[in-house]
Amino acid sequence: MNNDDFRAWSTRAAQWGVDYREGLRERHVRAPLVPGKTLNALPSVPPEKAEPMEKIFADFETLIVPGMTHWQHPRFFAYFPASAAPPSVIAEYLVAAMGAQCMLWQTSPAATELEIRMIDWLRQAIGLPEGFGGVIQDSASSSTLAAVLTMRERALEWHGNSQGLAANKQLRVYSSNLVHTSIDRAIWISGIGQENLVRIPTHGPLQSMDPAALEAAIVADKAAGYLPAGIVACVGSTSVGSTDNIRAVCEIAQRHGLYVHVDAAWAGSAMICPEFRHFWEGVEMADSIVFNPHKWLSVQFDCSAHFVRNPDDLVRTLAIKPEYLKTHGHDGVVNFSEWSVQLGRRFRALKLWFVLRAEGLEGLRRMIRNHVQWAEKLAHRLNAEPDFEIVTQPMLSLFSFRYAPKGAGDLDALNLRLVNAINDDGRIYLTQSHFDGKLVIRFQAGHSDMTEADADVAFDTIVEIARSLENEKKT
Ligand code: PLP
Repeated sequence: MNNDDFRAWSTRAAQWGVDYREGLRERHVRAPLVPGKTLNALPSVPPEKAEPMEKIFADFETLIVPGMTHWQHPRFFAYFPASAAPPSVIAEYLVAAMGAQCMLWQTSPAATELEIRMIDWLRQAIGLPEGFGGVIQDSASSSTLAAVLTMRERALEWHGNSQGLAANKQLRVYSSNLVHTSIDRAIWISGIGQENLVRIPTHGPLQSMDPAALEAAIVADKAAGYLPAGIVACVGSTSVGSTDNIRAVCEIAQRHGLYVHVDAAWAGSAMICPEFRHFWEGVEMADSIVFNPHKWLSVQFDCSAHFVRNPDDLVRTLAIKPEYLKTHGHDGVVNFSEWSVQLGRRFRALKLWFVLRAEGLEGLRRMIRNHVQWAEKLAHRLNAEPDFEIVTQPMLSLFSFRYAPKGAGDLDALNLRLVNAINDDGRIYLTQSHFDGKLVIRFQAGHSDMTEADADVAFDTIVEIARSLENEKKT
């Protein structure tokens, strides 16, 4: 492709992006689920001869787009949001055009220094004290893995990487029984072993880890010859937004010399609003914290902010410095590949810079406050219907509910049918989870283009489809 074509196609792609976003409310949110449809439409062998861009672009529109779930749809209420505000899309285009590699300071000095500045802007925005450093990782899963490796190394006095785990006592890590599966995976990958992830029961309105049970488990493990390494606490779990008492967890950790990692992958964005910071009161005592601006801060996926109280511990765990990666003559510069599992790194700070400047913290706070308010209103409206129940109250903009008409029989089966029927209908997209042994339907408000009217469409759709299922049964 020559530069004239590159210019023309870049313009066409940008135009397509705008039209796509403008027309999203007309599309079904979730893709039609027809396994193999796209795969079978694609040639099974690669092309030998170059093909014209016109044809490639046409195939993109006819073969790929119809099979996509639309994460930028304002009525995407499933999982968690992954809002990509237009300034972050533009930044990503610029990053793609530069094709930058940000593994070392010298491979992209401005990218490294912008990342340092952006992490510090975010630190201030969410109210963490000075002294926390950080890095932008690809995902909360990677951030948590890096944290678990650091807690492992710290507990093993920095011998685990060299000696492996066999020569050492069995490690133990503690979390509630409601944390995200990225914690389980970090425990497997770090070699600690699933059996050594000790699940602490939860209770109370926020489904928090029971501090007394946590401390009792640590004491019992020490007495039994295990080596407790750390605790992974959660603020805003995926299923129902459960939230641990961070201060209580950190005080226990301090008494026993344990590392604390806080997973606030989704809810962390809301901490830009001072009135929500009570949810992680005491967080300044944690050793590391992760939250994803790519979830609820409108920054294009991927962008995960990983804060650490002591960057040296993270670097000591992950850094590897062969001659070909050394930056002679510039001692003391930050090489972010030493803070992450991967070596090659994307330039993620640019989109954060664009969004923070184009929206301002005020604009982002307004968006989050609206989402929280609209989710609360929707929960209130559903609760007022005689045949619906709110199972978990809104935690920020997330709650769960069930359709429970009198005499309905198997409510799990009915609610699974309901969520599938809603997603096939396409006006909104919701996902289910399990809570307290029941199948529940989750609702989260989080897309930057969402309006209050979209929450009203959610109410109408849920109620209409639920009652149509009941009527079907009667006829
Ligand atoms: N932690 C929580 C609480 C989450 O909700 C999620 C994803 O939804 C994750 C971790 C994993 O995030 P990522 O996809 O960035 O690895």
